[in-house]
Amino acid sequence: MPATIIDGVAVSRSILAELKAEVDALRSSHGVVPGLVTILVGENPASVSYVTRKIKTALELGFHEVQENCDPDISEADLLALVRRCNEDPSIHGILVQLPLPDHIDEQKVIYAIDPDKDVDGFHPVNVGRLVLGGDEVRFPPCTPAGIQELIIRSGVELNGAEVVVVGRSNIVGKPIANMLLQKNARANATVTVVHTRTRDLAAHCRRADILIVAAGVAGLVKPEWIRPGCCVIDVGVNRVGEKISSRTGKPVAILRGDVDFEAAREIAGSITPVPGGVGPMTITMLMKNTLASCKARL
Ligand code: NAD
Repeated sequence: MPATIIDGVAVSRSILAELKAEVDALRSSHGVVPGLVTILVGENPASVSYVTRKIKTALELGFHEVQENCDPDISEADLLALVRRCNEDPSIHGILVQLPLPDHIDEQKVIYAIDPDKDVDGFHPVNVGRLVLGGDEVRFPPCTPAGIQELIIRSGVELNGAEVVVVGRSNIVGKPIANMLLQKNARANATVTVVHTRTRDLAAHCRRADILIVAAGVAGLVKPEWIRPGCCVIDVGVNRVGEKISSRTGKPVAILRGDVDFEAAREIAGSITPVPGGVGPMTITMLMKNTLASCKARL
């Protein structure tokens, strides 16, 4: 039987509706709405597109949205001063600095300058530490891993005691999702293995997985024979493999593929996320969730 497709767009839409209801309730009860500042340096097309989608979603939810579009040659000192002003601004609950930054700016310095209590991306080392400690310490789980966890739970896939294999050990996906799923709580409690470029037998590890999370950035890396029948496959990879002309706009658009051979894998897996339309839409949704949580924590 072909796998159930985990529809990230639909799950995302239902979470956004829940968040909208909470924002409306906050506005009526406290006269406050979550405030998000999006800081964009330069005009990198991918960054502009991500930021535009974040702004649109924030406005749809009724957030106070502040756009800071900086010149590509803004100095590091000026950017740090902008971050500090946002730290001090009581109407701002979340600060998002769109990465990557231009080469003349030290990304780490900028991330470290964000007030950890407004770091809704969850990249500040204080929040990384809180995530590892788990429990009530966790303030802002990073958005893509938080979206993955939510997709698994809302699809009804059992995490408690599950064998989870994570392909990739990056700071933004692999390491945080592994940490989140091994925590002692009902939304986790998994046995987690992380595999990477130096792992001896990738296929053998993947074949053990009840839940296989792939974040390598290599199109079609995971072959169908690596997938255990009935496995829940979460494909985080977004790889441009070519271009096509959009039938809607008549303009060229990227052809995107995940890290898993989707068509073959869906014949074996129990459930699987498509690319696009799986993990992708969840990332922005979880950014909104973190900003709302930050606002509520301030009250
Ligand atoms: P990264 O390059 O920082 O890390 C990739 C990891 O995969 C590394 O740890 C590396 O060791 C491992 N890896 C690479 N090739 C491998 C191989 N052949 N065998 C085993 N391990 C291998 O990437 P990242 O930032 O974690 O992103 C991974 C993918 O997820 C990319 O395609 C990225 O575009 C995508 N992504 C999607 C979202 C989303 O919202 N959907 C968010 C973040 C990243």
